[in-house]
Amino acid sequence: MPELPEIYNISEQLNKEIVGLVITNSTIFQEKSINIKTKDFNNSIINQEIFNVTSRGKWVFITFKSLDKLFINLGMGGDLLYTTEIPKKKHQAIINFDNGYLLSFRFWWFGYIHFVKKGETHHMTNKLGIDIFRDNITKKEFLTLVKARRGSLKSFLLNQKNIAGIGNYYIHDLLFKSKINPLKKIPEVSTRKLGMLYNVILSEFEDSISKRGAHYELDIYNQKGLFQANNVAYKEGELCLCGTKIKKVKTGSTSSYYCPRCQK
Ligand SMILES: [Zn+2]
Repeated sequence: MPELPEIYNISEQLNKEIVGLVITNSTIFQEKSINIKTKDFNNSIINQEIFNVTSRGKWVFITFKSLDKLFINLGMGGDLLYTTEIPKKKHQAIINFDNGYLLSFRFWWFGYIHFVKKGETHHMTNKLGIDIFRDNITKKEFLTLVKARRGSLKSFLLNQKNIAGIGNYYIHDLLFKSKINPLKKIPEVSTRKLGMLYNVILSEFEDSISKRGAHYELDIYNQKGLFQANNVAYKEGELCLCGTKIKKVKTGSTSSYYCPRCQK
């Protein structure tokens, strides 16, 4: 599942490629991905010129010159390719541009391509929490936000309404590098470690963005990223750098990988 670094990268690449282009056609194969009728969707976006592409957490936002918008989410995973040929792999939507290129949407399971008219709110992204990159969140702001809560720190970080963009791939190493046990509740974690967590989120995401995201995700040019989370994530039974075996525990509906010695 793409998380903040992959979506940030995709949106920056799109911003470089499609601004100024005009949509000439659109074909929707998975109608439940869109939020209005296919015919209305096509009529709404055809002839629109792209003004800007940005992102927030796991969402890509395409703004038209008219200030109407498209909100895109790849759901459990998928890819968004910018190409001149219709991909052979099964895809759920195609948007064509006036330069001969197209954008193909492939969702592993289910994703969203929502059209929202200028001035209207999009209920799914309206409640998204901070985007630590896009919003230039300071350490002080981050600490205030986290320390206002009392529940599990890991659940807090994964909840998109608090911080948008952290998911099940990055979370394990973010906690490992901050030396925080994934089972801890927020009040049990020192301010020093929470401050460390802020630094780690920024540096880990910056590193991944500079490598075009995680090694198993594709960018818009059909290239895999080069980033690998390789401290504890998905390494149950292997040895941590300290020599202790990495543990896997169930936390809610997801699993946590951590080093019981390094993460207190
Ligand atoms: Zn360790």
